[in-house]
This record gives sequence, structure tokens and C-alpha cells, in this order.
Amino acid sequence: MFTLRSLVSAGRIACYARSRLLEKSWQQGQVYLGASTFGTCKQLGNCKMSFDKEELKKRLTPIQYEVTQEKGTEKPFTGELNDEMREGMYKCVVCGAQLFKSETKFDAGCGWPSFYDQVDEAAVTMTEDNSYGMVRTETTCAKCGAHLGHVFDDGPKPTGQRYCINSASLKFDPKSSKKGEEPKSEL
Ligand SMILES: [Zn+2]
Repeated sequence: MFTLRSLVSAGRIACYARSRLLEKSWQQGQVYLGASTFGTCKQLGNCKMSFDKEELKKRLTPIQYEVTQEKGTEKPFTGELNDEMREGMYKCVVCGAQLFKSETKFDAGCGWPSFYDQVDEAAVTMTEDNSYGMVRTETTCAKCGAHLGHVFDDGPKPTGQRYCINSASLKFDPKSSKKGEEPKSEL
């Protein structure tokens, strides 16, 4: 019988095993989901939207600022969107750009919202990230350069990709119910 605790720890182990596998595939020089551009829009200086640091510090929570502006990572299983399963659109918390559809969200067991695809191929910029002694592919918002998380090539079909995204970099916009389909109040 699985307890919640054992499921969570199993998820962590699976997550760790996957990152070890990725490390190995890099060492073997295999073709891996490569960085698709030469830099983020911030590095290239061509962001479509830019924001004043002080304004962002006021508007965002400390963790939202740390993740999106300083490439921070929220602690696993702490983000409010990790368990979000409603239909809707995940947008950039900084500029509001549409990034991920709820249909592509899946439970990777890692403690961060995971998606197998971005809303369209121009929404998210992918760049190589060599921090912390690892070779990873960083994901940033293509419009404003906000750090989102990383993408790995161990996701489910149809793309095989796993966008591992900080909840703090996202704003969820639930799909509003259609007219005439509102839940009946007497129920
Ligand atoms: Zn953005």
C-alpha cells in the first residue's frame, strides 16, 4: 500500500535517476535537446517587454522576483501551481505572455509544475546553462526574459520533453466556464 509519503519519495528518486541519466547522456556526447538560441532576450538586448527592477520588486513576491529575475529555484512541492489541474492557461508572471496550456501539464513527481510542450515554439527561449556543475537547458520567457526553469528530454509523448517550471514564474488563468454551464447553486 502506497502512502503519500512513499509516493513523494519515490517521485524524488525517479527525478534524481532521470537527472543522473541526463548527465550520462551528456558525457557520452549524445544528441540532447540543444539550446535553440544564442542567448536569452535579456542577454541579446532584444526583449519585447522590459520592466523596471524597482517596479518588479514591488509588484512581485520575493520568491517570484528571485526566480524570474535572479534565476532562483523554489523548493520542490512548495509552489502553489504544482498540484493545479484545472483547465486554463499558464502565463508569465512578469509580462503575462502565454507560455503553457493545461492540456500539456503532467505529474512528473519532481515537485515543480511540468509540461511536455510550450504553447507555441516561440513562447519559450532555450539556452545552455552550465551553472552548478551541470549542463542543462534553461527556459526563459521569450517576451521579457524572465527565468522559468529548465527543459529535459525525458518527458512523455508526443514531444518527449519535460519543461520543469517554477510555480513562482507562472500565473494561472483558469478557463472560465461557458455560459449556461455554471454549477447549479442548489447542488
Ligand atoms: Zn514574460
